[in-house]
Amino acid sequence: MGTHLEFDELKVTGLHKMAQINVPVLLFDIGEQAGCRRDPIEPSRHPIHDSRPQSAGAPGEGAWDYSPTSLALANEKNGVLRNEVNAFLKEEGVAISITPGYNGDGGTIFSTYGGSENPKDPIPPPIVAIGAEQYNRLVRLLQHGITPKLNFDIAVDYQKEDENAFNVIGEIPGTTKPDEVVMLGGHFDSWQGGTGATDNGTGSSVAMEAVRILATLHKPMARTVRVALWGGEEEGVYGSTAYVQQHFAQRTTMVKTPEYDKLDVYFNDDGGSGRFRGVSAGGSPQMAAIFKSWIEPIKDQHIVAVSGGDQFRPTASPGGTDSSAFSWIGLNGIGFQQDGLEYGTRTHHSNADTYDRVQKADVMQSSMIEAWFVYNAATRAEMLPRIPTPAPDPDAKSHE
Ligand SMILES: [Zn+2]
Repeated sequence: MGTHLEFDELKVTGLHKMAQINVPVLLFDIGEQAGCRRDPIEPSRHPIHDSRPQSAGAPGEGAWDYSPTSLALANEKNGVLRNEVNAFLKEEGVAISITPGYNGDGGTIFSTYGGSENPKDPIPPPIVAIGAEQYNRLVRLLQHGITPKLNFDIAVDYQKEDENAFNVIGEIPGTTKPDEVVMLGGHFDSWQGGTGATDNGTGSSVAMEAVRILATLHKPMARTVRVALWGGEEEGVYGSTAYVQQHFAQRTTMVKTPEYDKLDVYFNDDGGSGRFRGVSAGGSPQMAAIFKSWIEPIKDQHIVAVSGGDQFRPTASPGGTDSSAFSWIGLNGIGFQQDGLEYGTRTHHSNADTYDRVQKADVMQSSMIEAWFVYNAATRAEMLPRIPTPAPDPDAKSHE
């Protein structure tokens, strides 16, 4: 089933009118232009490395600093602002909402979603992200009292056959302790602007390549090595959260399954294409010491740092990336620190997240290091030290 919408000479007059009543709607707040350089010399007012909205207070409290970029994100306070904006757009009969995305210039458009994943929340009109330069041109035309006319031809297919996401799981059985498991992985889903090459094609590839290296070497590993390519990460870490709750413990009760005590560690890569430069010890000084001993022999590969060895705090809720689903229930969810490269400024959730932006040598370095960490965990005499098990949280949000 396809929904085909055609907008014929859509006028922006109504949008301009809304600006006069000072309401928080994209493009209507014509006092601000989107985050791109106005000329080659002046620094950007919204530097592309930090164009996240600067807001204070809650919606309705009046202290919000609305801008095209903040409204493009519109996700503060768990979507309250986004829902208010969407309800307003609907109420005003807006045919289409135009946004410059929430970051980027020079042809890079950062655009993810404008609606809520909860079908009970207000459904916005179609939302279109356009380049900051084109967006700003519309703003300038409106400022000069000129009404632009825009044509949109939007074709959207809603896939209803299978509305579930899925995880892909594979493993190399352990030789002498097959019920003890070392995991590694990345997420397999991505956003629509590009192909998800760096978010998280690289993390998925690094995990697969690490497993290929280990399988090819045929070195015996006592523990089972299990690779996971998670689904639904971008919607809210759904795939890994469902997995850990089904296999290890429900966060609400913290009743442990037999698998809980056998899960040694999960290694995650979700930081773009850059090299591994450090590893997080998950707040455990014992773990930090172990990781330091592991990176010592491979320092020529330029991984040098072990961080986060002093203060463990359980993840409040799964978020950010899949390792959080593990640490949420007191398991070792470990991430690596990577070279940032252009992840935040160019590829993360943008239309430039394509294969061209992947740095082959960096991804090879990451694969080798991940394989090395997995190998060490899978062959170590003891399992890695466990962070403290959090108390049950009856109010914990479950994705199941
Ligand atoms: Zn990601």
